Amino acid sequence: MEKWDSSAGTSAFHMPEWMIQFADQKQEFNKRPTKIGRRSLSRSISQSSTDSYSSEERPKQLSVGFSLPHSAQAHAKGTLSAPKEAMKLWLAHPAASYTDSSDDETSPRDKQQKNSKGSSDFCVKNIKQAEFGRREIEIAEQEMPALMALRKRAQGEKPLAGAKIVGCTHITAQTAVLMETLGALGAQCRWAACNIYSTLNEVAAALAESGFPVFAWKGESEDDFWWCIDRCVNVEGWQPNMILDDGGDLTHWIYKKYPNMFKKIKGIVEESVTGVHRLYQLSKAGKLCVPAMNVNDSVTKQKFDNLYCCRESILDGLKRTTDMMFGGKQVVVCGYGEVGKGCCAALKAMGSIVYVTEIDPICALQACMDGFRLVKLNEVIRQVDIVITCTGNKNVVTREHLDRMKNSCIVCNMGHSNTEIDVASLRTPELTWERVRSQVDHVIWPDGKRIVLLAEGRLLNLSCSTVPTFVLSITATTQALALIELYNAPEGRYKQDVYLLPKKMDEYVASLHLPTFDAHLTELTDEQAKYLGLNKNGPFKPNYYRY
Ligand code: NAD
Repeated sequence: MEKWDSSAGTSAFHMPEWMIQFADQKQEFNKRPTKIGRRSLSRSISQSSTDSYSSEERPKQLSVGFSLPHSAQAHAKGTLSAPKEAMKLWLAHPAASYTDSSDDETSPRDKQQKNSKGSSDFCVKNIKQAEFGRREIEIAEQEMPALMALRKRAQGEKPLAGAKIVGCTHITAQTAVLMETLGALGAQCRWAACNIYSTLNEVAAALAESGFPVFAWKGESEDDFWWCIDRCVNVEGWQPNMILDDGGDLTHWIYKKYPNMFKKIKGIVEESVTGVHRLYQLSKAGKLCVPAMNVNDSVTKQKFDNLYCCRESILDGLKRTTDMMFGGKQVVVCGYGEVGKGCCAALKAMGSIVYVTEIDPICALQACMDGFRLVKLNEVIRQVDIVITCTGNKNVVTREHLDRMKNSCIVCNMGHSNTEIDVASLRTPELTWERVRSQVDHVIWPDGKRIVLLAEGRLLNLSCSTVPTFVLSITATTQALALIELYNAPEGRYKQDVYLLPKKMDEYVASLHLPTFDAHLTELTDEQAKYLGLNKNGPFKPNYYRY
């Protein structure tokens, strides 16, 4: 295979000799992550995956034997009285979206639509919204530099020529940038949504208009959901040879309905916690019939999702829901892992007085060294203005804590699903709930004290803010590279197992994002490389390095 020119990378980074370089570091592939159950933010999230953090929230089984779309049931176990309504709200604020409202209640399945080239191989809400979708896609492109760099490279060669990719992800502007990049790299794509509420209709229309067979609209029924997936897969004269999945529903469908397709499929790229979990289960049971890439656990993705994304979105989520001023406010952040560090950094920068609680002495010491007061929650619960949970644990904030909070204290969760705050304990007769805004409840005690509960204890940023496109860019680039790698890998490089991306690929994803900042990476001298025992082009760190 020809080498790609690496000119779009930074000067010190001469990566894209795809296959050759990856082949050299076969031994580098970790077969399994040390920890699964981390989250994926394939997403585009306000737009996005409501389930991504939690495999506990896996769907119920349908009577036909298939599980519900994870999105549809992600909250089946929540404390919501009307989970579907809440889910709609949750997903209904893609702030940048032009419009989603349509008086047209006709199901897209019953409509005859054609794009301007006369093709009707798609099913979207309204093809006429394409122009608005195109603008959304163009905005997203600005913050997805790595994909744009890949496209530039693709002018010379097409590493995905001949690839027939069937995809099932959130259909948002960011995904559209990914799909169009895959197209530029030579792939044919057919796409369905992995979430029944997250599709941006105008973006789906724009994709259909530019010739992508997209089967998705916002507010699909469960039946629609599987119908759309089936329309992507079950098509005459076209068989997928690659799968890009987010949540595992597409993979599951092909396994159940069209197992023979796996004879032609070269690999699966999976993005979400739950999908990856399913793949490991298949692999363990000896039922995985093609190689799969776990992009959820790549280093860049985790760092960006957990630390940087939360650093940005905590303020956004709090501001949108409460209009509060942060300066001088006393905040307690429970948990000083990646998410907690991001939240603390953002709040400290805004002038808040930040306390931290931790159970782990190492993270606790980090908090101290970073200038935060390490306390027990009980010690500050009466005085703080905001309580934020980021532990991945359960019942970190209990009814007892809630009882002791001061009037107007804001309580929210940035960690695991809806387990961290014991919200159920607030559903007692003596307490009154008042919905004051979308995603904002006042819970009122008999003496008049009220606390402000955000998003009913679910993830604040996913519920009430958007996720930066730049974060999604990292994930999308990783997905594209994983597809290229699996598609081009020589026979035998990958077995029927689940693989993590090689560190070198992670480094490459990062390097593609550096030009955005006009960042100048230092190149190792020969002497330095020899001294450190490194290849000048990476990988620069061992797999156990923690960053
Ligand atoms: P992490 O393991 O790095 O950090 C969690 C920290 O909480 C640990 O240091 C742990 O010692 C501490 N902890 C556990 N129980 C505690 C308790 N009772 N009191 C105080 N501290 C306690 O994990 P992370 O990467 O920071 O992720 C935390 C959670 O956030 C996970 O559930 C993850 O899925 C979720 N997450 C959310 C987002 C988001 O956008 N909101 C993004 C990524 C991850």
